[in-house]
Amino acid sequence: MRTLYRQFLQTSMWFFLLSVILGIMLTNIYYLSFTKQQTIDQNLQQANEIVSTLEQMHGDRTSVSPFLDSVAKLGYQLVLADPEGNLESFGKPFQDVQLSDEASRVVTEGRTYEGEDGNLSFFMTSHFANRLTNTVGVPFELEGETYGLFLRPDLSLLSSDIHTLLLAFLLSIAFVNLAGMLWMAKQLTKPIGLLQQATQEVANDNYSHTLAIQRNDEIGELAESYNQMIERLRENDTARKTFITNVSHDLQSPLVNIRGYAELIESALPAESDSALHAKIIQQESTRLSVLAKQLLLLSSLDQPTYQPKLETYALDAQIKQLVSHYRWRIEDKELDVSLKLDPVMITADQELLDTVWDNLLSNAIKYSRNEDSIHIETYQDDNVIQVVIEDSGIGISTEDLPFIKDRFYRADPSRHEEGTGLGLAIVHEIVARHQGTLSIDSTLHEGTRVVVRIPKL
Ligand code: ADP
Repeated sequence: MRTLYRQFLQTSMWFFLLSVILGIMLTNIYYLSFTKQQTIDQNLQQANEIVSTLEQMHGDRTSVSPFLDSVAKLGYQLVLADPEGNLESFGKPFQDVQLSDEASRVVTEGRTYEGEDGNLSFFMTSHFANRLTNTVGVPFELEGETYGLFLRPDLSLLSSDIHTLLLAFLLSIAFVNLAGMLWMAKQLTKPIGLLQQATQEVANDNYSHTLAIQRNDEIGELAESYNQMIERLRENDTARKTFITNVSHDLQSPLVNIRGYAELIESALPAESDSALHAKIIQQESTRLSVLAKQLLLLSSLDQPTYQPKLETYALDAQIKQLVSHYRWRIEDKELDVSLKLDPVMITADQELLDTVWDNLLSNAIKYSRNEDSIHIETYQDDNVIQVVIEDSGIGISTEDLPFIKDRFYRADPSRHEEGTGLGLAIVHEIVARHQGTLSIDSTLHEGTRVVVRIPKL
């Protein structure tokens, strides 16, 4: 995944690069449009002043060199071209040793020379190259002959302290900018990361996680709206759970009464009569409702964040053996082949809750097995974990249903003719989670189901 932080950094880097390129191009355009001609004019003015001083000196050829030598020392690169085309350098020599045709016209035709590179090349840097073509040239008369003086300021002397300072200034700006961008990216993406974590908590039905983001901007407003939303969700969740607890609690006693009266009615009626059958159905349905109410009550108490399992240490294998013997008649009724491989395991857990777990899993294995299918129960422990496997060769679960069977009230279609509420596995899942354990279910339709509960040792 490309994180927001990385995207922000990459985009900022691209903009930084773009601004450097644009900056160079704009400076270049500005230089070529305005500064370059000014520099040429200044250089020409200085060259003219030097040659006019030379002419006023009325000296001979031998007096020119010392004079130009001292001018060069003031920070210039100079070249003197004599009528024969010989060149004499003063100051730092140029890379090229010959005059271009255009430059030669200073001597041959007495013209002024304004340099060439700058006109041909778009990039100003070429104008600063140490070449004769980057000089200006003016003619002057000496002893009746025309000479040419080519000049430009010595740029190597110019790149002095001020340039180092300027470079340090630019590098500091670049560094501060980059550091600022990194800091800004963190400031923007950190609260978004917190918000993402918080929404994940909501997705996991945890409404206690509020956002501690104090900011006076849109992100601060978003965090505040999120906290208000969480508050409302928490209130709704509490109201829903209280409602379920009350309803399931209040349903219990009328259901017990209904079942009791239905039993009475049934016993007073001739067996096999329609009315006796109806009374029997009332008993079954009230039993189912009573189970549902109990399961809802258990689930809503498991949902309470304050709910604590009552931990005790007991023999897990004995608990499972007792449960199997409890179901003996149903096992025999379906002629199921039940095999046990129970290591002696002491577990520290809530015994009553785990009773519910094994009860739900074993009753499912029996309920969803066909006659003469087999069920295998196995316990196993290592240093850290206790594992219970309940495996059956029953009707199995389709791959479409499998992801949903732990959801509350979910029942796979083939199971609908069996008694059930669709809450059993949801309860198992909650109880196992309360013990920091895991519940995994593998199943193949028509072949069977394997349920594995893993509970870490305390
Ligand atoms: P129910 O009360 O319907 O058994 P559960 O929550 O215990 O509710 O199970 C949910 C659904 O998962 C069941 O309706 C059934 O379709 C499927 N199921 C659970 N255990 C098994 C199993 N051992 N074999 C086949 N299907 C199963």
